[in-house]
Amino acid sequence: MALIVQKYGGTSVGSVERIKHVARKVLDAKQQGSDVVVVVSAMAGETNRLVDLAQQVAEFPDERERDVLLASGEQVSSALLSLAIRDLGHPARSFLAHQVRIETDKAYGKARIKSIDSTRIKRALKDGEIVVVAGFQGVDEEDNITTLGRGGSDTSAVAMAAALQAKVCEVYTDVEGVFTTDPAVCPSAKKLDRISFEEMIEMASTGAKVLQIRSVELAMKFTVPVHVRSSFMEAEGTWVVEEDESMDAVLVSGVTYDKNEAKITLLKVPDRPGLAAQIFSPIAEANIVVDMIIQNASEDGTTDLTFTVPTADHKRALSLVEKTASVIRARGVRVDPNIAKVSIVGVGMRTHAGVAARMFQILSREGINIEMISTSEIKISVVINEKHTEQAVRALHKAFIEQQGNL
Ligand code: ADP
Ligand code: ASP
Ligand code: MG
Repeated sequence: MALIVQKYGGTSVGSVERIKHVARKVLDAKQQGSDVVVVVSAMAGETNRLVDLAQQVAEFPDERERDVLLASGEQVSSALLSLAIRDLGHPARSFLAHQVRIETDKAYGKARIKSIDSTRIKRALKDGEIVVVAGFQGVDEEDNITTLGRGGSDTSAVAMAAALQAKVCEVYTDVEGVFTTDPAVCPSAKKLDRISFEEMIEMASTGAKVLQIRSVELAMKFTVPVHVRSSFMEAEGTWVVEEDESMDAVLVSGVTYDKNEAKITLLKVPDRPGLAAQIFSPIAEANIVVDMIIQNASEDGTTDLTFTVPTADHKRALSLVEKTASVIRARGVRVDPNIAKVSIVGVGMRTHAGVAARMFQILSREGINIEMISTSEIKISVVINEKHTEQAVRALHKAFIEQQGNL
C-alpha cells in the first residue's frame, strides 16, 4: 500500500474545530487507499507562549530544560489529533519522539536528526492504524528531549517520509503553497507551481519560513517530493522537486526577508593573523550560527569586523565577543538588533550579469541604505534597517517579478 506523510502546521491545528477538520482530511487520505503517517506542530501560538514562559523564569534558560518545555506543545496536538481521528471511528495512535526513537545530536534548540527507528510505526500501520507523530522533537543518545529549531516539524515530516520511503511528504499550512514572496507582506505575490530544491533551500535560508531549511536539505538528499499546500482548500500547492531545464529561464523566483538576525561590530581590531579565529571560535563553541561576515582593513593597521547572528542568540554572542574584544584590545563592540536581511533568489542568476547592480539601484531609488551585502551563485542578500523591510520587499518584487515577467 502506498504511504504518504502529511504534516500539519500550527495554524492548521490551531483550534478544536481545525483539529477535527484535519482528522477528516487524514481519514479521507486513508480511505482513498494510502497508509498515512501524520506529523503535527504545536497549536498556533503555543511554542511562542512556552518560549516566553521560560524567558520569564530565567534570562538565559537552561537549554535542556527549555527543550523539555518546548516539546510539550507537540505532545498536546498529537494526542488531540489522534483522539479526533478515533472519534471519527478509525483507529489512530500518537507517538512522541522517544517512542519511535527519533534520535538527534545533543544540540538543544537546534538538534539534527541522526536516525529514526520506524519499527513501531510500521507495526501500527500494519495493524491498520493512522499514525500521528509529534513533530519538532527528538531524543539524544542519552534520552534527553531535544527540539529541532523553530519550524522544525517540517524537518520531522521530511525525515519521517525519507525513513519510511513515503511517496510524498505533504506539508499543509495556512497559505496555498510557496509564493514568490511572503503573501502576508506583498498581496501581489504569486503562487509557484514548482520550485527546485536548491532555490527552496536558498529561500528558506534567507527567511521564507514556509519550510524549515533543514527539511529541504533532507528532501533534496533523499529525493523526497514535497508538496506544500493549504489545509483549508483542495487546490494543488507547490511541488518542491529536482531542478530541470525549464527552470533556467527564471531570473528571480523569489524575494525573501528575515528579521531574526542581529548585527555585531567589533571596532578597530588589530590586523594580524589569528584574530578572526580568536573571535569566532568561542561563538562556534557556544553553538551560535554566524551568517554574514564583513571585514574591512583601514590604513591605520586595524580592521572593523561586522557579522550577523540569530536575534535569539545575540545576547550570548555579545557577551562572548565583549570578552574577546578586551583581550585583543579592540576599540569596542556595537550591536544592532534592528536589522533585516532582504534577498532575491533565482537559478537564472547563474547566467545573468548585472542582477546585483539592479537590486542596489532599486533600493537606492527607495532611499534605503545597504549595510551589508552577501551573494551566492543563485542569491543576493543585503542587510538594511528593519523598518524598511516591507518597502524593500515590495519594491524588489515589483521590479524583478511583476514587471520583469521573469525574463
Ligand atoms: P506552519 O505553522 O503551517 O508551519 P508557518 O507560519 O511556519 O506555517 O509558515 C507559513 C507562513 O510562511 C505563511 O503564513 C507566510 O506568511 C510565510 N511565508 C513567508 N514567505 C513565504 C513564501 N515565499 N511563500 C509562502 N509563505 C511564506
Ligand atoms: N511548534 C514549533 C514552532 O513553532 C515547530 C513547528 O511549528 O514546526 O517552531
Ligand atoms: Mg512552519
